[in-house]
Amino acid sequence: MALRNIVTEGDGVLHRHCRPVTSFDSRLHQLLDDMRETLESADGVGLAAPQVGVLRRVVLVMETNVPEGEEPYIIELINPEIVECSGGQTGPEGCLSLPGRFGLVTRPMDVTVRAQDRDGNFFEVKGHELTARCFCHEVDHLEGIMFTRLASRMLTDEELESGSWRDEVDG
Ligand code: ZN
Repeated sequence: MALRNIVTEGDGVLHRHCRPVTSFDSRLHQLLDDMRETLESADGVGLAAPQVGVLRRVVLVMETNVPEGEEPYIIELINPEIVECSGGQTGPEGCLSLPGRFGLVTRPMDVTVRAQDRDGNFFEVKGHELTARCFCHEVDHLEGIMFTRLASRMLTDEELESGSWRDEVDG
């Protein structure tokens, strides 16, 4: 495995459409293993292939809604499609490609994704709250969409720290 460099905002690769994966081969497995290591090392909750410069429909999402005492785990999603959404949530959202910057983004509260695993088998997975937000954020990356395009506005460090953005969301 190897760490890959995470590209940051300003790199054109973040604004391009990604192509579907058609070969579930050792090259894909290498990419997934590298992305896994890169995500863990960056301490993030999600990573899309274009963020490491690869224009393919591959994303990783960290499932953090786990029973007490269990470790969060990474879900590998190849050719993911959002098939169901419900509810809504508005809160701060960030991106490893835009370090230190957060914006207020509204997303569904529950999301179901249909995808393939690293061997090409189809499966469905549900995400709630942060995981639902991540599914949407990472799938957006595959269309070249950064969260800044969807944010109602960006937050200052102070607002983020104090949580004052909650007032306008709840109110
Ligand atoms: Zn991102």
